[in-house]
Amino acid sequence: MRQIAFNKVYLTGKEKYYINDALSRGSLSGDGFYTHKVSEFLEEKFALNRVLMTTSANHALEMAAQLIELKEGDEVIMPSFTFSSTANAVLKEGASPVFAEIKSDTFNLDPTDFEAKITTRTKAVIPVHYAGVSCEMDQIKEIAAENDLFIIEDAAHAVNSFYKEQAAGSLGDFGCYSFHGSKNFVSGEGGALIINSKQPKIIEKAEIIREKGTNRSRFLRGKIDKYNWVGEGSSYLPSDILMALLFAQLEALDKITLERKKVFDYYNQHLKEFLTEDFLELISSVPVDRQSNYHIYYLKFRNQKIRDFVLQQLRENGVEATFHFQPLHASPMGRKIGYHKKDLENTNKIAARLLRLPIYPDLSSADLEYITAALRGIFKKIKQAGV
Ligand SMILES: *Cc1c(COP(=O)(O)O)cnc(C)c1O
Repeated sequence: MRQIAFNKVYLTGKEKYYINDALSRGSLSGDGFYTHKVSEFLEEKFALNRVLMTTSANHALEMAAQLIELKEGDEVIMPSFTFSSTANAVLKEGASPVFAEIKSDTFNLDPTDFEAKITTRTKAVIPVHYAGVSCEMDQIKEIAAENDLFIIEDAAHAVNSFYKEQAAGSLGDFGCYSFHGSKNFVSGEGGALIINSKQPKIIEKAEIIREKGTNRSRFLRGKIDKYNWVGEGSSYLPSDILMALLFAQLEALDKITLERKKVFDYYNQHLKEFLTEDFLELISSVPVDRQSNYHIYYLKFRNQKIRDFVLQQLRENGVEATFHFQPLHASPMGRKIGYHKKDLENTNKIAARLLRLPIYPDLSSADLEYITAALRGIFKKIKQAGV
């Protein structure tokens, strides 16, 4: 029997070359040769104002929370259907995450529920571009502007995704990318903060937070002759060795995306016929005004029982499919901050019915044929037995 992993890190073959080069340059700590190369690459490729490489998306989110000066009593609206990092950054500043519903078609923040949850304490919104498909940014931006809210995009899934020709991460005040090993382009652990404000003050403040509260970045640019401790900060800059690894990945960004698209299209082509069945409600799709990076391929079933059956059957066939986020409001920490499992009904329903299939460049056409044949067999069983 074939064994098909849920995810496999794709290596271009150039990673070792660039890592060795970083080593021979003696370039190990932050903001070296390769860190500049990758941040310039991202700025150019996605027309971004300023990119600061970080150790993770979680850290980029933390930096954004500090930059908007979140404090105790402030509220930040975000979907419950996301990773813990989105809420961590808010909690860390003593502010409160407020969970909103997601839309039934893209599983992205529901603009109507976002608007309904705004109070006098709301300071920001964090839309999460789920699966590499951007949120309804025109609506979200309009609501945020009317209510004077900051927008921090959690674009951890969405490097190389676009909304009406504009890159994810460039649409709010700040954007956060992830290069974690589970994402499309990887440095193992890594991320980036995108600063869309052109105000030099904001960028300078971000550099200080990132560089242990010092103005070392200005010093490195030759603006001052020594650097000092000038404010609050931490150490959010990645080693240049990891950025050398990432450079190899970013060079292959279009190729990696194309390979993922092929898998996505294959599933769509072979599974769409089952949409007429009443047990299958949804397969992955990309709205016409958006461009995906094909981070995730999902199916949504009529109920949890069917989803769990398909999951278990796929595993018995050696295919490692999986569910996704446990909604944050229903997690132990969510309940600790006052939420109840039964809150956010639509989010609960979607999370319980969602199944993700393997999607990565190294899946062979034989793997894909095997997975879709297995699904066809499982669907037949469902029809016959009426699960
Ligand atoms: C992966 C992920 C993160 C965290 O990324 P790290 O780089 O591992 O910190 C944040 N938000 C979402 C939606 C994610 O999927």
